Amino acid sequence: MLTITKLSKYYGKNHVLKKVNLNVKKGEVVCIIGPSGSGKSTFLRCINLLERPSSGSIFYQDNDVLDGKWKTNEYRQHVGMVFQGYYLFPFKKVIDNITMAPRTLKNKNKAEAEVEALELLKKVGLADKDDVYPASLSGGQKQRVAIARALAMHPELLLFDEPTSALDPELVGEVLRVMKGLAEEGMTMVVVTHEMGFAREVANRVIFMEGGYIVEEGAPEEIFGNPKNERTREFLARVL
Ligand code: ATP
Ligand code: MG
Repeated sequence: MLTITKLSKYYGKNHVLKKVNLNVKKGEVVCIIGPSGSGKSTFLRCINLLERPSSGSIFYQDNDVLDGKWKTNEYRQHVGMVFQGYYLFPFKKVIDNITMAPRTLKNKNKAEAEVEALELLKKVGLADKDDVYPASLSGGQKQRVAIARALAMHPELLLFDEPTSALDPELVGEVLRVMKGLAEEGMTMVVVTHEMGFAREVANRVIFMEGGYIVEEGAPEEIFGNPKNERTREFLARVL
């Protein structure tokens, strides 16, 4: 589904991503772990075209994403993203946050978009929150609205950048449960996370990044149970 080859990114002289390769198959859940500053967010932002890679290639379903033929908006209908900071529109009600993109980018009519938004809200456990403004929601609820909003575009691949890192600990579980549900339904996901329990339980593959490199990758049992690289071992010893 997604094939990334030798992706590099410089910020000025700072070499942040170093010839990173990644292949994601349909239905796979890939978790990316690693210390702060290792390039995880930059990597996701390059995949979503929020950043332009300095070199390398990104192929999505056999289309060259970087050749300029894809319109960025069109590509993002296939590849959605959920951020640490939710980025809901504060002056729009929850329902309008969810229906906006399908209405403007997919020309869905209002009634149809709203029926679907209500279904999505039910799916993320917020059936009664359609008519409120984001400010009245908890962080966990906001993040679940952000997930519903991303789903409203029917993406085939969802990227998550530390979706629970801004949340109070007691709110983390409700968001991870929604994500686990998506994974069980077969959604293809790339998740940058510090939630090692989630990675261990839900990921098909775990990638450890450090210093702009993919240092090690493998099944969760291998990475957590028997990491081969010294750097991976040191990182896990610190966080587990
Ligand atoms: P964290 O776990 O703290 O979120 P990360 O692994 O996501 O870290 P990145 O945010 O990708 O790390 O940052 C990687 C490197 O790139 C860091 O050295 C950072 O300072 C640098 N960097 C990130 N974004 C920019 C930017 N917009 N301009 C310049 N440098 C940047
Ligand atoms: Mg980051």
